[in-house]
Amino acid sequence: MALHSLMKKATQNPYRVLDDPAFWTPAFCRAFFDWCDAQAFDVPSGQLVRGDLALELAKRTGDQHTIAKGHGVKASAFRVVSLYDYAEAELATAFSHAGSCSCCLGELYRRAGILRIHERLFKESVPLFDTAIEHCAKNNSRDGVGRALVSRGAALCLLGQIDEALQDEHRALSLLSPLSPQFYHLGVLTNIAACLVTGSDDHFAHAERYCRQFREYLEGLDGFTILRIRLSWAHGAILVRLGERKRGLQMLRKARKALIHARCDSEVIAITADISHIYCDTRRYHLIVELVREVLETLGDVSGARPLLEKLLHKAQRERRETRESALELRAAVAAVIPCLCRGSEAMAFSTP
Ligand SMILES: [Zn+2]
Repeated sequence: MALHSLMKKATQNPYRVLDDPAFWTPAFCRAFFDWCDAQAFDVPSGQLVRGDLALELAKRTGDQHTIAKGHGVKASAFRVVSLYDYAEAELATAFSHAGSCSCCLGELYRRAGILRIHERLFKESVPLFDTAIEHCAKNNSRDGVGRALVSRGAALCLLGQIDEALQDEHRALSLLSPLSPQFYHLGVLTNIAACLVTGSDDHFAHAERYCRQFREYLEGLDGFTILRIRLSWAHGAILVRLGERKRGLQMLRKARKALIHARCDSEVIAITADISHIYCDTRRYHLIVELVREVLETLGDVSGARPLLEKLLHKAQRERRETRESALELRAAVAAVIPCLCRGSEAMAFSTP
């Protein structure tokens, strides 16, 4: 049976992968492991169960490379639920199965690096990613190098090495396979955005170019809907920051419409706060009133943001200078993948898939 239909069956009921030998192949395991890693972002609470499943499935194949990688998936599952000691022990087991095989080591060193980042050992994570990249290159895995670069970029960003971090993210995009799970691509975008939070105008100029190339990359591909919207969001904010207000605002408003359509409620509020903040610069308060009214009418209550939306509306209706503070207060109250790029003092976010 084709890999695609096997995956469809497996995602409907993951437990069946242990019962049917049709699933017990290294090729299926690779796809299943990717799915497990991706699920960690949507439903982190079920990750330990998926980690166990991944390892049990790997053992069914009897293939040492797949077993090594299965232990790697389980190690990352422990990391997702912050059981770092268990993750370390599981990785040690994974390495013992990998021997000197570059196809396994490339992946395991990347997982080890990500674990270090979560343990806040940023400096220690970088040489692990370097080793991962060496092994993936030795194994001619462009996608593997790309995946490791996404995370090394995050580590460098956290170390304040913004130029190097941006270079890694940009290179990652040229190497990642379009078939790689979307969160790797999303990682590129959010890490570029995270770099900009502490970066200078020079970095914004680089990132503007990267955003354009990112759009070109996505042009020939299906799917990636939410990623495209978030890319327009980041790109629009970057353009405004670089002084191209009109084009930037157009992009932001388009992204906002798409987020409303996709029912990404907390992101709708976040981008509304971003746009309001920008309108404050030119005192176009009536436009803020329009946007906030629309949000209040169309969205349900998102994480208790309604009082803050009403406060912003109130200030904007009276054309108060504190409208700006209200917009920032609202922005800080909701979770969004794209950080506020309007000014450089927000908390830094990063993504390590
Ligand atoms: Zn191997």
